[in-house]
Amino acid sequence: MISVSGGVIADQHTVPPSLDLDDTRTCPALPGCESCDAVDDLDVVTADLPVGVACLTLCGSCADAGDLPRFRSWSAAISRVLDHCGHLGVDADQAAAARSICG
Ligand SMILES: [Zn+2]
Ligand SMILES: [Zn+2]
Repeated sequence: MISVSGGVIADQHTVPPSLDLDDTRTCPALPGCESCDAVDDLDVVTADLPVGVACLTLCGSCADAGDLPRFRSWSAAISRVLDHCGHLGVDADQAAAARSICG
């Protein structure tokens, strides 16, 4: 871990104007629903987690019910957020900036 002194300079990273954190077109779907393990009617959805926006593979009924899988740990949730940043081709700072703009 690198310790940063002086804090983060917010405008150091420019956010691509077209960045849409809910865009799942480039996100790979998993073979089963992450909440109930169903293998039919799967869709990739985004979830606004406390640590950022991540993409998840859910079946239709879990997506309708807003049934999100439980992450084993914060680091697991964070790694999913970072995965989704990778799908969108942005870094975590850009994603966080876009998220704060969108509210
Ligand atoms: Zn499901
Ligand atoms: Zn993704």
